[in-house]
Amino acid sequence: MKMPHTIKTYCPNCKVHTDHEVERVKKKKASERKWGQRRFRKVTSGYGGFPRPKPEGREKPTKRISLRYRCKVCKKAHQRPCFRSKKFELQE
Ligand SMILES: [Zn+2]
Repeated sequence: MKMPHTIKTYCPNCKVHTDHEVERVKKKKASERKWGQRRFRKVTSGYGGFPRPKPEGREKPTKRISLRYRCKVCKKAHQRPCFRSKKFELQE
């Protein structure tokens, strides 16, 4: 799927349609203070291995694409439910 670099869409802050910049959301490093990460550290420490079984079988043919839309007027960003796609690129 190809997507333009800027799209005109609804801004929840301005409450009108404005030009938005589209950017890919990258996965951030997990914070050591969050509960899920603390539980993960607790469970993986000591004897007994990884808490979940290893994912086996084929790789999924599509990947989840999450995007962030930044309003050019108010500079606020919002996200939408992500979707799946085999190929994804942002056009200039
Ligand atoms: Zn706005």
